Amino acid sequence: MNTIQMVDLKGQYEKIKTEVNQGIQEVIDSTAFIKSGKVNDFQRQLETYLGVKHVIPVGNGTDALQISMMALGLKPGDEVIVPSFTFVATAEVAALLGLTPVFVDVDTDFCISVEAIKQAITPKTKVIVPVHLFGQNANMEAILAIAQDFNLFIIEDACQSIGSVYTFSDGRKMSSGCMGDVGCTSFFPSKNLGCFGDGGAIFTNNDELAAKIRSIANHGMTVRYYHDQVGVNSRLDSIQAAILEVKLKHLDEYNAARQAAADFYDRELEICDEVSIPKRNPYSTHVFHQYTLILDRINRDALQKWLNNAGIPSMIYYPVPLHLQKAYKNERCRAENCPVTETLSSCVLSLPMHTELDEEQLTFITKKVKEGLSANRI
Ligand SMILES: *Cc1c(COP(=O)(O)O)cnc(C)c1O
Repeated sequence: MNTIQMVDLKGQYEKIKTEVNQGIQEVIDSTAFIKSGKVNDFQRQLETYLGVKHVIPVGNGTDALQISMMALGLKPGDEVIVPSFTFVATAEVAALLGLTPVFVDVDTDFCISVEAIKQAITPKTKVIVPVHLFGQNANMEAILAIAQDFNLFIIEDACQSIGSVYTFSDGRKMSSGCMGDVGCTSFFPSKNLGCFGDGGAIFTNNDELAAKIRSIANHGMTVRYYHDQVGVNSRLDSIQAAILEVKLKHLDEYNAARQAAADFYDRELEICDEVSIPKRNPYSTHVFHQYTLILDRINRDALQKWLNNAGIPSMIYYPVPLHLQKAYKNERCRAENCPVTETLSSCVLSLPMHTELDEEQLTFITKKVKEGLSANRI
């Protein structure tokens, strides 16, 4: 059996090596490392794939979130509602811009709670940032309705959910990240669509916002050396775009491989009393950026050590809620009650999840997880 890894980028690369290497070589031969046709080609292919009007490639997912917030004309002290159970970038950029992150609770599907959003709204609230955590869309229909009622912007954090599809109650289907005013994604290597370094993109159907975002990402310029607003320098480079062009063609197949692994885990583990398998919402497909269990009366540290000794890596996403982090537990932020987030942080465990897991590995992992659960009860 091959060594079990949390993420297997090497195995995935081996299968597309010729095409990827050729794409990289073309960029090197052209020496068009920045703003080349490759970046434009990838942008157009991603627009078509997602069914969105504008894709603006940027340097990484964190920049995507920051530039999106910069484009909305917010002022210091405006409140941005974010889930407390997420990767830090979501709140970090709000704090950096002098906005007030307002941390709210999630539900047991790991996505922002609609009730919690409603309770957190004040006259200063300007933005809601739903994070489609672990690859499943938040309840966007309800969140879009709230945004409309209270005249708020929505920035979707789709860094973990590219390729996932949301179905509205009238049957309309939309891609993750393309439902709000703006959507953000990351091409960090381990993401569902990952490059070989840093990369990210912003999605929007709004022409005016797209132009503003493009300008901010390029030093606030529209005409060269004429700066209309304070911007940043954030771009996807041509080598990353060449890699992403190849990988985008395989994205559906990659997500299907993740779903097949998740189905295997589900079948084997749903009978265990000591864990809850990931909840799947009827309105969203799940692209399983992570496969995350909720443990019940299990010594998590001991279980992780036990699995590690058996050759099975596991991870805790995320061990500390954002509202309890040193950098965010202060008067510049606000936190609502987040009991679900606090419980989840103490009992979630993510199993190996990537495109290359085979049946032998999955059989071994689930067998050992079951044994490990019985051996580490509290
Ligand atoms: C990865 C990630 C980001 C940040 O993306 P980078 O490309 O690493 O900057 C933001 N939000 C979430 C939920 C992520 O998973």
